[in-house]
Amino acid sequence: MATMQAPPRARIHEGPFVNEPLTDFTREENARKMRAAVEEVRGQLGREYDLIIGGRRVKTQDKIKSINPAKPSELVGLFQKAGKEHVEPAMEAALKAFESWSRTSVEERAAIVFRTAEILRERKFEYAAWMVFEVGKNYAEADADIAELIDFCEFYPREALRLAKAEPPVQLPGERDLLMYIPLGVGAVIPPWNFPSAIMGGMTLASIVCGNTVILKPSSDSPAIAAKFVEALEEAGLPEGVVNFCPGAGASFGNAVVAHPKTRFIAFTGSREVGLDINKRAAEQAPGQVWIKRTILEMGGKDAIIVDADANLDAAVDGVAAAAFGFSGQKCSACSRAIIDERIYDKFLERLKARVEKITLGDPAKNPGMGPVINEGSMKSILEYIEAGQKQGGRVLTGGKRDSNAGEGWFVQPTVIADVKPGDRIEQEEIFGPVLAVIKSRNFDDALQIANDTEFGLTGAVYSSSKDKLDRAIREFHVGNLYINRKCTGAIVGAHPFGGFNMSGTDSKSGGPDYLYLFTQAKSVGIKTT
Ligand code: NAD
Repeated sequence: MATMQAPPRARIHEGPFVNEPLTDFTREENARKMRAAVEEVRGQLGREYDLIIGGRRVKTQDKIKSINPAKPSELVGLFQKAGKEHVEPAMEAALKAFESWSRTSVEERAAIVFRTAEILRERKFEYAAWMVFEVGKNYAEADADIAELIDFCEFYPREALRLAKAEPPVQLPGERDLLMYIPLGVGAVIPPWNFPSAIMGGMTLASIVCGNTVILKPSSDSPAIAAKFVEALEEAGLPEGVVNFCPGAGASFGNAVVAHPKTRFIAFTGSREVGLDINKRAAEQAPGQVWIKRTILEMGGKDAIIVDADANLDAAVDGVAAAAFGFSGQKCSACSRAIIDERIYDKFLERLKARVEKITLGDPAKNPGMGPVINEGSMKSILEYIEAGQKQGGRVLTGGKRDSNAGEGWFVQPTVIADVKPGDRIEQEEIFGPVLAVIKSRNFDDALQIANDTEFGLTGAVYSSSKDKLDRAIREFHVGNLYINRKCTGAIVGAHPFGGFNMSGTDSKSGGPDYLYLFTQAKSVGIKTT
């Protein structure tokens, strides 16, 4: 990448980490800035982007079309499509860059990432606007996504600096004993489309700040935001070959990078099926491979909110609606099951229905409550789940259909299905859309049992005013991210290190104090001094 630029002066941020504030779009001044950014980005839609391998711009015959899910006739960007033949050049470039990048001081690496934070902060509205067009986020959702990426740009370099100065180990008499966290090598970074800046950028930054180099294969549904992020890295002075930008199909290019003998680690976030497949393939030793590949796999969820009979009902209704329908339910942390005590079940449903029917659906460029789902395949799959839920005895309380009035895109109404039974398909499988299953529980024991009875374990929440019950939930609700008397979405970097149990992944807690260890290996050195 940009070697022509003078690298920024190494600047160590002494201050403690502080989260990037979220933008308040009820203030007209902010809404106006965002509308202006949306119009500015609208004028840039449809451009062509190249692969970037070792700083070289590469064109391919096959292309990926990134389209606006709210308006599928609108091309967001045209991307080159890396194929199997691009794996070797990308690997060579990443290996070559590793030689110098792994020896670059942690202060210099951190300085580049801090500089990236400054660039992103200056263009926050513009980056958010790209997400409005490419994945259908409304203003607040897009803003939260870019704020989280800025948080990672501030959090991970501080963590890398902390690791570099880690407490020395026990010192034996007559020895100087060291413990160093050194980089691993070349990583495959394979993100999903639903947090197209935060997760894509977060996994990339954690990799590079530790001295690794990467082949970044963004999701085919969101390559534009990744391209914009790579532009920011270049501008911040990242050397060529440290991040190799290669949009491509998961099944061909992604698969081949995972299988490559020189791939040292795979940082993946996505579905359970693909995560398990990568895990299996990464475990096979390719000819010439001299290490066990490290896999950092964050996968799906079937997240539940338990509402106890003694809960503050208004807060619970609000929390469930926001967690179920924010970004059309397309978050791994989204509430897809509400488990409601039978004593308040009818009252809860009545209030929830009224609350959900207030959600506006439309073009994210106009900042509605909810936008489209990501693509046609996803819309069809969501509508099939709604059918399946009804076939097994579920009752559609509100929604249930595609909404063509909202626009030409992939709009699905916010849907609540009541009377779902534990074990039903829509109670067990990740739908990844605006569909909430409501299940009646007999009591708190029963609610906990239902909540824990899936193969996932990502997020969960409990609304109750009983300290005993909440203490029990803290002990027994088996999820990686548990929330008490608040919704189960919206993890904040630093405060809520994020990652799930069971089939939700390897519990690698992004945004937490353990995360960077996964991108390093510890080397112990004992030096005889006498
Ligand atoms: P996906 O699994 O379809 O794709 C994720 C990435 O894997 C994409 O870049 C894709 O191109 C790539 N891929 C697909 N097949 C591959 C293969 N065979 N080899 C290598 N790479 C391959 O997921 P998605 O639809 O992009 O994202 C939605 C999923 O991500 C949901 O299941 C959601 O719960 C999960 N998710 C999890 C977290 C978390 O932190 N646990 C966060 C966000 C999303």
